[in-house]
Amino acid sequence: MVRVRFAPSPTGVPHIGNTRTALYNYVFAQKNQGQFVLRIEDTDRARLQPDSLPKILAILKAVGIAWDEGPFAQSERLKIYQDHAEKLVKSGKAYYCFCTQERLSAMRKAQQKRGALPRYDRRCLKLTRAQVKTQLAKRTPHVIRLKVPDTGETSWVDLIQGKISFKNNQIDDQVLLKSDQFPTYHLGVVVDDHLMKVSHILRGVEWISSTPKHLLLYQAFGWPVPKIGHFPVILGPDHAKLSKRHGAKSVLDYLDEGYLVEPLITFMAYLGWSHNDNSELLNLKKLVKLFDLKKVQKQNPIFDLKKLNYFNAKYIRQLSNQELFALVKPRLKFKLADAKLTSILPLVRDRLVTLNDINLFLDYFAGDIKAPLDLIVAQSGKDRAAVKTALGQTVSAFAKNSAADWQEKNLEKIGHDLIELTGWTTKELFMTLRVSLTGKVATPPLFALMEVLGPEVVSRRLQAAHEAL
Ligand code: GLU
Repeated sequence: MVRVRFAPSPTGVPHIGNTRTALYNYVFAQKNQGQFVLRIEDTDRARLQPDSLPKILAILKAVGIAWDEGPFAQSERLKIYQDHAEKLVKSGKAYYCFCTQERLSAMRKAQQKRGALPRYDRRCLKLTRAQVKTQLAKRTPHVIRLKVPDTGETSWVDLIQGKISFKNNQIDDQVLLKSDQFPTYHLGVVVDDHLMKVSHILRGVEWISSTPKHLLLYQAFGWPVPKIGHFPVILGPDHAKLSKRHGAKSVLDYLDEGYLVEPLITFMAYLGWSHNDNSELLNLKKLVKLFDLKKVQKQNPIFDLKKLNYFNAKYIRQLSNQELFALVKPRLKFKLADAKLTSILPLVRDRLVTLNDINLFLDYFAGDIKAPLDLIVAQSGKDRAAVKTALGQTVSAFAKNSAADWQEKNLEKIGHDLIELTGWTTKELFMTLRVSLTGKVATPPLFALMEVLGPEVVSRRLQAAHEAL
């Protein structure tokens, strides 16, 4: 039975790149009719951020990642780790260390000065049983350390990265149990992956240097080792490890900004895995069908928000007007009648990158705008006096069209007559109208837009620009 786990530390809200690890694990489990265990690795008490756990859970729910077991919090399992650490001490695979922080940092400084690898010098390994007993009786603060073999290598065949080896003499005697009686990450992760019957450990490549330590722990316990794979690390555009500094946000933030779940899933899926030319929109179901661990690449993917924008816009374009209406309505920052929104949507839908973008178009549909005169003049390519004259001619031409005939194709005809009348080019005239009516340079098609604005608004805005000039 395939059993995977996602084991976030609640030390902050994970950005979208970190959520990819959960997505791959979930999809891999689904694909293999397996199970997904959620474990909260909250043993680093100093870095704990209590409000991050609800966000982590909300992110998984939003993406549609349903866990079969958990969430298990490591902080509620302390006795288990303590017992396991003691077991290793009894079997001679681990030992108590009573060294103080001062001694350890002096030791490290001396090692650094010599140019030696900073590592524990094993002073406490030489303590006699009686000495250990006395210290424990005195309640001297202590940790438990793993006795790492001096020779040999620890290696494994990584499901994604291939064969990897580490020399044992490069590995420090790891602390397993801290002086606060909390386990370290290494002890917690190994004990839990074993007890929770995890069959595949799939995590980011940043954990690769921890893996030999874990393998030594499996050996020390005499436990079988799960299969292990490390996903490539996601890089920012500057090729440094992706972080919030690169603008990477959490899935919840993106949803707030008007991105949709399917494009987010698609974007995450292609960060390290590929399918054809990586342009197909996916959802969880499709991804489960297509996903193949063997197609997860070693090469580190680059985070490119343009791709998310591409998928989001593509997804929006595939929605029906009705579906889109329901999605954008709650995001309106302007008061707008439903009927008006219904008539605007077909004009702007292909320009929406996010749902919130709807508001970019609404100021001139919903509110009253004042087009900047300099922009009108600049975009016309004519001088101020010529623009004033042309706008005057325009106002009267459109005023002749009855309200009942206020339709795109009639308006367009008037527009073309005006070109003849003014002697301007299409571009010059239509741009002047566009900016006068909206205050913007890029808008939906001019005459469709005028139809929706209606005769009164069109006349009022053209007249206002004309008078102001
Ligand atoms: N708690 C680790 C993290 O925050 C889990 C690493 C692992 O999956 O082993 O990502």
